[in-house]
Amino acid sequence: MTIQIFNSMGRKKEPLETRVPGQVGIYVCGVTVYDYSHIGHARVMVVFDTIVRHLKARGLDVTYVRNYTDIDDKIIKRANELGIEIGELTEEYIKAFQDDMGELGMESPDIEPKATEHLAEMQEMIGQLIKNGLAYESGGDVYYAVDRFKKYGLLSGKNLADLVAGSRVDVNTQKQNPLDFVLWKGAKPGEPQWPSPWGPGRPGWHIECSAMSSKYLGESFDIHGGGRDLIFPHHENEIAQSEGTYGHDWVRYWMHNGFVNVVSDAGEREKMSKSLGNFFTIRDLLKAYRGEVLRVFILNNHYRSPLDFSFGLLNGARGGLDRLYNALDGAAKYLGSLPDVTSVTPESEVGNPLHGDVEKFFKSMDDDFNTPQAVAVLFELAKKLNKILLAAESSDKKAAVLDHVRVMRGLGVVVGLAQATPTEHFQFKPEVNLDVEDSGSGAGISDEQIDLLIENRTKARADKNFAESDRIRDELVANGITVLDSKEGTTWRRN
Ligand SMILES: [Zn+2]
Repeated sequence: MTIQIFNSMGRKKEPLETRVPGQVGIYVCGVTVYDYSHIGHARVMVVFDTIVRHLKARGLDVTYVRNYTDIDDKIIKRANELGIEIGELTEEYIKAFQDDMGELGMESPDIEPKATEHLAEMQEMIGQLIKNGLAYESGGDVYYAVDRFKKYGLLSGKNLADLVAGSRVDVNTQKQNPLDFVLWKGAKPGEPQWPSPWGPGRPGWHIECSAMSSKYLGESFDIHGGGRDLIFPHHENEIAQSEGTYGHDWVRYWMHNGFVNVVSDAGEREKMSKSLGNFFTIRDLLKAYRGEVLRVFILNNHYRSPLDFSFGLLNGARGGLDRLYNALDGAAKYLGSLPDVTSVTPESEVGNPLHGDVEKFFKSMDDDFNTPQAVAVLFELAKKLNKILLAAESSDKKAAVLDHVRVMRGLGVVVGLAQATPTEHFQFKPEVNLDVEDSGSGAGISDEQIDLLIENRTKARADKNFAESDRIRDELVANGITVLDSKEGTTWRRN
């Protein structure tokens, strides 16, 4: 068994050879906790949760670290707008994030460090970088001198000269080179601050991940992951910081998942992002779909491919999952109850008629985590199970049903699917109906009323009255109206 991983560093598949045989250390950039997480965050989290599950299923001893960025410009801005301490804001959104993750069937990482609890480690690193001649103090800030790190640009494939040519000239800068990035920001009025050898201030974002990952996984470790939007500059800067501090190679495998695109009714694709405002929060979607539907929707796509988001595709994923649970429901009725879930591997199934299916599933996952192929095996097993259930009673029918259920759910452990009972699945009642095929809802509110609410919401947003804009949005959603924000403005449609 060899697991092949597409390494963003070098851009090719490579066999996974861990530093310590049998052990894997993996770090994934977590969320910045100032708002609810959206489907783009859900994708990163589900993808890496599944990767970790497969590494474990293959017998590796995994240490999974995923951080919280709980100090950042956006957090300070939002807390100031709301007139609360940043800790109050971040605590609320960490809790919300954990609730969302629970709904998506996520296993907790082994360690979930918070940036604000690792100031000492960050400062130690910054001090070492200054000592190594790679960072400099300037006007209360500390910057990384990018042109002194030879490997800069290797991960993203960017060339330093091109970057300089394309960079904006900032006249107020304290930087020696426009590409230099901040390691420590000198304190500004109204901002949280910590004492440091360079005066009071706070850390830059990039140093947070370098310090937290190495603290828990060592000065070099196996896998670092995140969304592909983090390749540059975040991960490029993390490499510069960590290798600049330790003086040797840092991460063996860089893994990045693709973007989420929103597909409009007209079939046009646009990248989903917070800054474009065209996103759906996990929370909103969970009002309409069971978390497992979002999970199978995400895993139906290879993690490196772009993920097209539309309600039609989401409903398709729900239909697939319904079929799977229908088969399990039939089995539960036939058997009287479903057996407990136990793990299944190709080794445990030698001699089983389903060995080929198990092998196919694991081979797909070994090949750079090809979840669409692996999930297809679960659906094939559901189909076979239905056939057996429909067949006439025979001496070996019960054993065959039991075996199919056991293998289906045992493989499901690896991808976090088919773990619920059919009753749990079918009992889910959506609070709102986001089904585009169904035009029955939203009839109680007129077009004029909707336009007025949208207008009021736009005004509230412009006034930074987010409590009010959220309230209006909730009111619209409760009336079966989908609100779509994009850079062109806000549009709506009845579900
Ligand atoms: Zn990071």
